[in-house]
Parts: sequence; structure tokens; C-alpha cells
Amino acid sequence: MTVEPPPSISLAALDELWFQVAGTLCNLTCHHCFISCSPHNRSFGFLTLQAVQQRLEEARELGVKEYYFTGGEPFLNPQMTAILVATLKYGPATVLTNGTVWKDEWLETLKRAAHESEYSLEFRVSIDGFSAQTNDPIRGEGTFDRALQGIQRLVQAGFLPIITATRTWPQASELEVLRKFRKLLGKVGYTRPRLKILPSLKIGAEAQRTSGYGLHDRVTSEMLDGYDQSQLVCHQSRIVTDRGVHVCPILIDSPDSLLGRSLKEAAIDFPLSHGACYTCFQYGSICTNPSSASGSQHGPSAPPQSHV
Ligand code: SF4
Ligand code: SF4
Repeated sequence: MTVEPPPSISLAALDELWFQVAGTLCNLTCHHCFISCSPHNRSFGFLTLQAVQQRLEEARELGVKEYYFTGGEPFLNPQMTAILVATLKYGPATVLTNGTVWKDEWLETLKRAAHESEYSLEFRVSIDGFSAQTNDPIRGEGTFDRALQGIQRLVQAGFLPIITATRTWPQASELEVLRKFRKLLGKVGYTRPRLKILPSLKIGAEAQRTSGYGLHDRVTSEMLDGYDQSQLVCHQSRIVTDRGVHVCPILIDSPDSLLGRSLKEAAIDFPLSHGACYTCFQYGSICTNPSSASGSQHGPSAPPQSHV
């Protein structure tokens, strides 16, 4: 039997640049983390302000339109605030955080920088349930209360965070879950919350918690026929880690994801050979920000975003 080679995707344009700014270090150890971040995982290191600034210059020349920061927990990087302030001179910035570690003085600095910048600063805060009973078994004891306080502080500081949750409930309960999320967020003063529901990616810790991908959970050439490839983050972005430039924020742990040392070098085709590519294909737009300030994104037909 001949096995069909996986289809490849080209980088259409480098519109978005991601930074694995905290490497794989996180103060939490979520059971579904697709890159198995933890307080002990140092397989990827922090990016320095200087390293980010060099990439921002490189990115500007290539016409990058927006910047994303992830980890691990970005705010464990002691230069995170300075990195965001610097980025806001180049373009809009979004930071993905678990909302449990930041300090009021950082928020004040960021509020000022966002006010002075012509670009927007977005926060995405992860919380995986509308109660401690639904969130804490996945993200750790006490994390629900801490994340909720973090969201409240952001809202009080005038930000409109994007709240993200990984779907760990049956699809049939989706509307009820969303209703409970809205009620919860209303209680902390966030009355028209931006919600983004994400599919789980069955790699890293999540593969241990549930199961990994089956052999047939793969994208084929036929499936891509007529498919809008802009739904896949690798079509218009790359991510910088302390090792170089990788294809996307999802696959950094896979050796084949490292495409080059410079952004130009990494602008090459990539074969969609991973199980996670199948999830991207099914759900689309996993990593993008929701477009409306009042809506929710969920479900396969209404595209569901990276952790944290
Ligand atoms: S995991 Fe998703 S974003 Fe990454 S290469 Fe595969 S399809 Fe593209
Ligand atoms: S999912 Fe996010 S918050 Fe949880 S361990 Fe991974 S990086 Fe940390």
C-alpha cells in the first residue's frame, strides 16, 4: 500500500509574528497543556528584550502587522512589561496569560503604554471552567479564584480581555456553558465579555490526560481542496523561540517545526503531517483573536485559540 505524502502549506505573507517569550516555564501545570509547560520545564528559555527588539526590526522590514506573546506564562519573564511597551511602537500586541501572576504596577505601566500607542494591547486570559469545580481539576487547585481576580483587575484597569477556555465538556452543553461563563464574568463587572472556546490539542500533557491522535487523524490533499487555508495560523505567521523560528505556536516541541534562524529563512513550505494539523483543519482560527468585542467564538463552524 502506498501512503500519500501530506499536503504542504506555503506562507502566504508574514502578517503575524509570535514570540515564545517565557519558553516552557509556567507557574501552573495544567493537565491539558499541549507543550507540557510547568515550573520545571526549561526545554525552551526566555526571550530577552534585546532578542525581541532584533526580531521586531526584522519583522518591520517584512511588513508584519501584529505580534503575539505566549509561553509558558509570559509574565514570569522579568522583561515582559518592557517587551510589550517596546512592541507597541511597532504594532498591535496580544499577550496570552493565565492571569495569576501579574502585579498592579505592571498593569499601570501597560495601561499608560497602550494609551500612548497608536496600536492596541490585548490580553487573553485562560480559565477552563465557570466554577472552581470545573476549572481546578484541569488547571490546579485555587487557580479559578486567582484567574478570576486577574480578569477583574484587568477589567478595572480598563482592558477588555479575551477569555479563553479549552472545551472539556460535551458539545451538546456548549450553549449552557457559555451562558454560565457570561454570568460568572458579569459578576466581576465584565458585562459583554469576549469569549473564545478552543478545541483541545492532543499533544503534550493532553495526550497523557486523554489520548493522542490516531494514525488517520491527518490532513490529506483532498481535504485541502477548496479549503480556505487562511484558517490555519501557519499560512500567515511564524513563532520565535530561543532556538530560532518555528512554523507555529502549536508544534514547537516537534523537531521539524524549526524552520530557520531568520524570519526570511523560515518562510518555507511546511508539510501538514501532524495530528494537531487535523485539529487546526477541523476548527480553524485556533490562534486568532475573536473579531467582535461582544461575541463568542465556538464550535467547528464558528471557528473557536492558543493557550495559555
Ligand atoms: S499545527 Fe496547525 S498551525 Fe501548526 S503547522 Fe499544523 S496546521 Fe499549521
Ligand atoms: S496551559 Fe497555559 S497556564 Fe497551563 S501550564 Fe500550559 S502554559 Fe501554563
